[in-house]
Amino acid sequence: MIAVRHLTILGSTGSIGVSTLDVVARHPDRFRVVALTANKGVKKILEQCRRFEPRYAVLLDEASAEWLRVEVRAAGLATEVLSGVESLEKVASLEDVDTVMAAIVGAAGIRPTFAAARAGKQVLLANKETMVMAGRIFMDVVKENHATLLPIDSEHNAIFQSLPHHFNGDLGAVGVRRILLTASGGPFRQLPLSSLEHVTPGQACAHPNWVMGQKISVDSATMMNKGLEVIEAHWLFEAPPEQIQVVIHPQSIIHSMVEYVDGSVLAQLGNPDMRTPIAHALGFPERIETGVAPLDMFKVARLDFEAPDFRRFPCLRLAYQALATGGSAPAILNAANEVAVESFLKCQMPFTAIPAMIEEVMQTVGRKDIATLNDVLAADSLAREAAREWLTCLA
Ligand code: NAD
Ligand code: MG
Repeated sequence: MIAVRHLTILGSTGSIGVSTLDVVARHPDRFRVVALTANKGVKKILEQCRRFEPRYAVLLDEASAEWLRVEVRAAGLATEVLSGVESLEKVASLEDVDTVMAAIVGAAGIRPTFAAARAGKQVLLANKETMVMAGRIFMDVVKENHATLLPIDSEHNAIFQSLPHHFNGDLGAVGVRRILLTASGGPFRQLPLSSLEHVTPGQACAHPNWVMGQKISVDSATMMNKGLEVIEAHWLFEAPPEQIQVVIHPQSIIHSMVEYVDGSVLAQLGNPDMRTPIAHALGFPERIETGVAPLDMFKVARLDFEAPDFRRFPCLRLAYQALATGGSAPAILNAANEVAVESFLKCQMPFTAIPAMIEEVMQTVGRKDIATLNDVLAADSLAREAAREWLTCLA
């Protein structure tokens, strides 16, 4: 008999949330949805409530929650509608929930993701920003509370799949020489450098291989996404930065690789569809159907590789720098990046100002030691303030 998993899906209306529910719907015998959450996309979450009949639906703000409450009642559903960050934390740590998909975008995901780890849940981690901001503390909370962490980010999921099952945080002990983190290079990999200044949000969000939320799409265009992923890999696999090599692979078929001391390189391949890593984590250690098309090697025909260019992608350099600086530096990098991306998306600054702003904020705010989640949140606020000031000066 299959043991039924009880799920909370944080960020259920986003790109990862929707793909998660797509996999869940294919396996009604395996999964029950206990809670769904969103920022304010009320129509989408109402649709999801109708389909999955969760016990709870949480929206960030109370006005949207009130609207949903009325609609849910009118639809005759028993779903209880809650609001606020405390409610996000509550549904991430419910007694009868065993698995939490952490798929809120950005720093907003940190408190509920921590709550899930503190409650000892199986945490399926898509919200890489939590790892970037608070990697060491988060890994400690996971260990102390016997939570399980399964990576959803396709690269980290591929690395996880390419490591031996008995890997326990010591790469040397399992004969690993390097992690090869693949990157598509995004939509501007070949654009003349002089044109970067004029690219639009629409162009930045048109990723060649993946369909994703807006923020991560811009991060892929600047390659800050890969920078955040280097930091994420550092904490997840206890890999020093010099053991993590970014490899540009424009086809996004190889999702990352692990190089061993005997010269073997193990990789995970597949079509670029997030339902594969999501299903890997949802079903772990079993393999379950996803609806992802089988990989057609004859159609793929070739796989290319290039070294990343720090002049084209200064955000990648800044992320390595933040990791080397340590302490609050990655949280500052992340916060400045979130403000920069949001401003770029609102056409308040050019694409090339993204790394400029981040670099300046990292210098102005300065590194501090981090001991608690509050230290992290304080660094995040300071960096946001500095970033907004930078914007005012720009205007
Ligand atoms: P998205 O923008 O499509 O969805 C974000 C979700 O979070 C939505 O449900 C939204 O309502 C919710 N949300 C946004 N702000 C919130 C707030 N302040 N409080 C509470 N909820 C809030 O984002 P996405 O592309 O699904 O990405 C989600 C996370 O997964 C990100 O951390 C991203 O880096 C990571 N990730 C995404 C992909 C992908 O293919 N989309 C791949 C790897 C990793
Ligand atoms: Mg990724």
